[in-house]
Amino acid sequence: MSHFIDVILPIPLERLFTYSVTSGQANEIKPGMRVSVPFGKSKIYTGLVHSVHQKAPEAYEAKEIDQILDYEPIVTVTQIQHWEWIAEYYMCTLGEVLRSALPSAFLLESETLVLRNMEADVKESDLKDDEFLVFEALQHQSVLKVQEVAVIVDRKNVLPVLNRLLKKKVIHLKEEVFEQYRPKLVKYIRLGEAYTSDESLETLLESLTRAPKQSQVVLALFQLLGQTKKPISVADLEKASNSSKAVIKALVDKEILEEYFIRTDRVNYDGSDYNAAIKDLNEYQKEALRNIEKSFNDKKVTLLKGVTSSGKTEVYVKLIEACLATGKQVLYLLPEIALTTQLISRLQEYFGEKITVYHSKYNVHERVEVWNNVLNQEPKAQIVIGARSSLFLPFRNLGLLIVDEEHESSFKQFDPSPRYHARDAAIVLANFHRANVLLGSATPSIESYYNAKTGKYGYAEINRRFGNVLMPDIELVDIKEAHRKRRMKGHFSERLMEEIQEALDMGEQVILFQNRRGYAPVLECLTCGHTPQCPNCDVSLTYHQYRKQIRCHYCGYHAALPESCFACGSPDLDTKGFGTQQIEEEVLKLFPEVRVGRMDLDTTRGKHAYEKIITSFEQQELDILIGTQMLTKGLDFRNVSLVGVMQADTLLNFPDYRAHEKAFQLLTQVSGRAGRTKKRGKVIIQSYNPYHQILKQVTTGDYDEMYKEQLYEREQYKYPPINRVVKITFKHKNYNILNEAADWFAGALRNNFGGTVLGPEYPPVSRIRNQYLKHILVKISKNDSLARSKRNIKRIEKSFNAISMYRSVRVIYNVDHI
Ligand code: ADP
Ligand code: ZN
Ligand code: ZN
Repeated sequence: MSHFIDVILPIPLERLFTYSVTSGQANEIKPGMRVSVPFGKSKIYTGLVHSVHQKAPEAYEAKEIDQILDYEPIVTVTQIQHWEWIAEYYMCTLGEVLRSALPSAFLLESETLVLRNMEADVKESDLKDDEFLVFEALQHQSVLKVQEVAVIVDRKNVLPVLNRLLKKKVIHLKEEVFEQYRPKLVKYIRLGEAYTSDESLETLLESLTRAPKQSQVVLALFQLLGQTKKPISVADLEKASNSSKAVIKALVDKEILEEYFIRTDRVNYDGSDYNAAIKDLNEYQKEALRNIEKSFNDKKVTLLKGVTSSGKTEVYVKLIEACLATGKQVLYLLPEIALTTQLISRLQEYFGEKITVYHSKYNVHERVEVWNNVLNQEPKAQIVIGARSSLFLPFRNLGLLIVDEEHESSFKQFDPSPRYHARDAAIVLANFHRANVLLGSATPSIESYYNAKTGKYGYAEINRRFGNVLMPDIELVDIKEAHRKRRMKGHFSERLMEEIQEALDMGEQVILFQNRRGYAPVLECLTCGHTPQCPNCDVSLTYHQYRKQIRCHYCGYHAALPESCFACGSPDLDTKGFGTQQIEEEVLKLFPEVRVGRMDLDTTRGKHAYEKIITSFEQQELDILIGTQMLTKGLDFRNVSLVGVMQADTLLNFPDYRAHEKAFQLLTQVSGRAGRTKKRGKVIIQSYNPYHQILKQVTTGDYDEMYKEQLYEREQYKYPPINRVVKITFKHKNYNILNEAADWFAGALRNNFGGTVLGPEYPPVSRIRNQYLKHILVKISKNDSLARSKRNIKRIEKSFNAISMYRSVRVIYNVDHI
């Protein structure tokens, strides 16, 4: 009988691939194990086994696998089911999900090896210089990697040399798969086996009387062994004996000492202040907790709406504690892990080493370690905190998922595929595990609130800040009027300056918020009005004073700050628009004595940059912190009494059906940073349009009013949560082909969907990296089957791809795009 396996390959292929295996292999292989398999002419890929069966493929003859890479599955069956849901729902391939789910170190690709052809009779005089170098190297070393060849011939492109050597039959090439992950080994030192008894030690010391340095090391080792049961590293011994590596090595050579290795995790928690007592909840938190627990009984998903600083985190902590007691795993999802060091250290105080943080800045090795710890249900991976990708970890036994700040749009992956929403995918994952889900926010997304209102989700709320601190007092300042009356200094209204002065006089801290979008400063020529443009994209380059550069935010293109205008040569260049940098300059002019910090993409690039700024603000080494969106996320500063929003307008005028919802959320969240202890906080929002209904709703904290109004508009214009949307993006270098292709597709869609197809339309930036872009938005009514509609779209894509001119146009789906 023949045996086959279906394999998921990490490439965007619609289907699984079938390979043949021996009956021995078929017995050994389980779904979720990795195999290396040949693909195409010479490629070898790592694939994941989907299933083992006996049905030969019809369309092609199955190739044999190369080898089995695991002894046990590294992916669970539940995970594969979850990934299938993601692929189906977000209209992408299982291979794309696999690629983004597995740490890249698990997905080895083949590497080309260069070997000497032993049968060839090589005449050295026939070889060119570079060929000879490779040939010579192969005399000393039986295989070379391609990168090694590059070093030898000192050139990046080595294909020409290799091709010539192949023709001359000097070398063979071979494809091989390499393990990239190596456990981290730490070197320790102990006494050699022969010297472990007491008498032998005496003899040893006697024998070393002529080598005082060596005996010093041996004595130091003994002292260390007496003090600690822990293994002793070479570095420890070096320090304790006040000697050098060379002396230790001499002892190792004499076999008096012995080196050994222990595998250590790179991602250990090294905190010590662990086991802080979990706080008792106040009556409002208790009531919310009771409601959540009650709701978990019949509805697995529950929304907790609690105003800023109401103490939602402490409620989560209670739920986590209860879940751990049942022996199940907890997943705590956050919008962006780098911004939440405060929260993580808070949780670590309670749960210490039970917490694993899955960090976006982790390297491949660290990722593999976390993966294995979760898979093996290690005690240290009982609670996983991470951003959206932690959803892909191999949980076996999830009991609780918390989605904190569930309204945040960064939960949706934008690029590359799979373009999934982590909140929604988390709910589906929880369903597979029969786990509970808590969504938490002070400003829930319209979707989640709608689901709670219509009874699909359970609901709980906390309407008071912890310690009965009042909600901040929010004041709107009309800057149009202030400009007219000349009551502005730069971007600061008189009111804002007064409040800043007052806060500073009281020794309190201030946060100034400047929206990132639309305010990047650009360079403008005062003579001819020219603004430097990105050569690859359809946007102006932005001015970065700090690095003295002009840069493109879309493709990363940058150039040195020009000394004169590119167009007319005039040296009179000015900056237009304002960003956080400019506010910083103005603050320093208006309040020369203050200590100012800035938190934006420029100042937070390094691995610990966020933490540094947050900590120095926390420790009151700064008086004023200026920042972008980053400031809004769950920060808890004790001494901030004033928050100033420099200009609310761009938030409101953004051309997107969610702009108003997002503006409400953002402004409420920033305001929530003010006055979190005792004294009531103050918020000043500057705007050209202070009568805007959203600004009113923010001032009065009227979420329900905002919700009602927004929901009405969504109903009118058939947007989510009433309808579903799929955004289709077309990309091509050629402007005309793109236009025709998008029109064709839209036409075909209209024949299928009637009036609910919008576009094709250019996005605000219609060319990025030399590719033109166009969008179509498809609205699917709740009454229609989403699955069927998506199948229709896919069918249209098939016909579209059959037209040769359109085949090179990239089609990108974004389901539930936000
Ligand atoms: P939220 O996440 O709702 O904005 P937090 O959980 O950050 O609010 O709580 C706000 C502040 O109140 C924090 O400093 C927290 O330590 C404190 N706090 C909340 N609940 C309690 C409690 N039950 N006992 C003591 N302090 C609490
Ligand atoms: Zn000019
Ligand atoms: Zn660009």
